Amino acid sequence: MNPAPVQQVPGVYRRRIGDIVVTALSDGYLDADVGVFRSITRPEIDQILTEGFRPSPPRLSVNAFLVHAKGRTALIETGAGDTMGPTLGKLIDNMRAAGTRPEDIDTVLLTHMHPDHSNGLCNASGERNYPNAELLIHEDEVNHWTDDAAMSVAPERKRVRYYEASRKQIAPYRSQLRPIRDGEVFPGVTAVPIPGHTPGHTAYLIADGNDSVLVWGDTVHVPEIQVRRPEVTLDFDSDPAAAVEMRRRLFDMATTDRMLIAGMHVHFPGFSYVTRRGDGYDLVPEAWSPAL
Ligand SMILES: [Zn+2]
Repeated sequence: MNPAPVQQVPGVYRRRIGDIVVTALSDGYLDADVGVFRSITRPEIDQILTEGFRPSPPRLSVNAFLVHAKGRTALIETGAGDTMGPTLGKLIDNMRAAGTRPEDIDTVLLTHMHPDHSNGLCNASGERNYPNAELLIHEDEVNHWTDDAAMSVAPERKRVRYYEASRKQIAPYRSQLRPIRDGEVFPGVTAVPIPGHTPGHTAYLIADGNDSVLVWGDTVHVPEIQVRRPEVTLDFDSDPAAAVEMRRRLFDMATTDRMLIAGMHVHFPGFSYVTRRGDGYDLVPEAWSPAL
């Protein structure tokens, strides 16, 4: 007797970039509130999702990426931890299933500080999930969320959800916090500032030899919608106009250079290419590779 499985297999996928091994890890998923979208109507959202055979509200992957390079191990993003309900917070289980323990992580790199990216830095007791890691975040991101003046004028929900949560998450890492701006921050990994979604939003270009992947953070939240309609913003974009401009710039670069991208909310495992389609763009997910 073989009972029917009751859960998905561990969310893990590996890809080699030259001599670097990148492992996509799933933190779980999130059903987006369609009320957060701007510059698009509800019927337009429903039409795009229907055409893409996607549910409404749209279901988003929440991904993180392990990077093994030159004997060191980095983790890009920490997921939501235990702060966003039972559909998220799977990152550490999936990491262990992939053969890496939290104490093996030398460096944590964040693309920005939003709950589904940075609330997994610490456990429910406020202790570090990654006891041996230094924490790298763009200087502008740290400065923004620790700015008392900005926090004092933020609406209650944003104050608690973003300002207070990010301060709480980075506090236990204070002695190991290394603010970054750009350039190589880990072997084979270059920080590329892409401000807009947040002031210190940062992409990471992982490159070795002729291979590369641009981990573009939250350049898109719902791929079906924002790849086709780059002008669509979210209620929680810090600077919506800058977010749109950056998204267009990245899409243009990715299509022109035929660049492999990976994203935190590109459907797991998140490795894709961008192509032009009509007056917008389209994503072409990279086929599952049976070999590393
Ligand atoms: Zn996000």
